[in-house]
Amino acid sequence: MATIDRTFHVDPATMHLYIESLGKIGWQDECGAVRLAYTPAWMEARKQLSAFMQAAGLEVREDAVGNLFGRLRGEDDSRTILSGSHIDTAPCGGKYDGILGILAGLGALKTLREQAGQPRRSLEVVALCEEEGSRYHATYWGNRAMWGMIRAEELDALRDADDISIGEAMRAAGFPPERYHEAARSDIAMFLEMHIEQGRILYDEHVELGIVEAIQGILKFQVTVHGRAEHAGATPMDIRRDAFQGAAQMALDITRQVEERGRPAVVTMGRWDVRPGGVNVIPSEVRFSIDLRHPDEATLRQLARVCSETCESVARRRGLEVTVEQIENYLPAGMDTALQQTLIASAKTYGASWKYMVSGAGHDSEQMSRHVPAAMLFVPSVDGLSHNPAEYTPIEDVVRGVNVLTATLYQLAY
Ligand SMILES: [Zn+2]
Repeated sequence: MATIDRTFHVDPATMHLYIESLGKIGWQDECGAVRLAYTPAWMEARKQLSAFMQAAGLEVREDAVGNLFGRLRGEDDSRTILSGSHIDTAPCGGKYDGILGILAGLGALKTLREQAGQPRRSLEVVALCEEEGSRYHATYWGNRAMWGMIRAEELDALRDADDISIGEAMRAAGFPPERYHEAARSDIAMFLEMHIEQGRILYDEHVELGIVEAIQGILKFQVTVHGRAEHAGATPMDIRRDAFQGAAQMALDITRQVEERGRPAVVTMGRWDVRPGGVNVIPSEVRFSIDLRHPDEATLRQLARVCSETCESVARRRGLEVTVEQIENYLPAGMDTALQQTLIASAKTYGASWKYMVSGAGHDSEQMSRHVPAAMLFVPSVDGLSHNPAEYTPIEDVVRGVNVLTATLYQLAY
């Protein structure tokens, strides 16, 4: 049974200062927080964070792709316990997604340095440079760089809306892209991430903390349906090959089957493109996206088969051609059970209410857990809002989470 030897109380005013200072950077009135990778707002946020890390007495360094680290060196410095999250935002984000996990790690390390001195094992807080994939389709860029998973061709192939490659953006921000491989590390022992829930379960149920058991898997597909463009008036219904009617039926049939499977399975078809797009023309080609999620790998794969078989059988019945192409693939990620137990022991020590949860959103911990033991702690999001400028977590909920993280890190590192 995991135990907690000592509790800590982080300073609420310091956490408030951290959140408000970073929240201002890149804030646009009509939109919210905008700190896209390698942009001036992103640079400014890293500069402010770096100053906070230095003031907290941490050794600050950045790697070749722009991940920023603050280290509290241990007596044994051969491996490090890492805590943090991502510094980039969704296109119009809020003041908490990602950044709160960094500030939690910073608050924890500051408190430990001041109140417990040098740890036995090294501790580091990390601001991962890119997680959201907002500017580039480069989801988990910073994380992948740390594990040597970036491929050289991505530096030129990944382009933003202005056709600037990620390599060019890195160079402009002061990170020569040809050095990307230097970001790889082999000394990470484990990873802990505090994050806002981004959903409304904790908020609605008045539970103070979420202990994440697994991050659900995400499979994304692009479906293309081909029929025949014909006159909308002159072609009888029974001989049409209407790509849209077929695609709509595929979407409904898939939805019904996922609904029958029940929670937590979810499916979304959010992007549609109908061609040629005339009011009086039978659609000849339809493309739509499928975003399918479930925390259990076997179930996820089975539901993926349901999607492709449904598309094929509808196409056959309606004389259409269909291709179902998988465009993204993130398998479910289990969080480390020993770390979960230590987080729970810590929550209990503070008298905090908690529950096990499955994360519906992807997180840096998903990538980390492929390489080292990883765990996540959720704090509530008011009204479940996230990826939204109104995203909010009261300071007492923040402080509770950071306290639990601090005591957990103490248990692991001292
Ligand atoms: Zn996030």
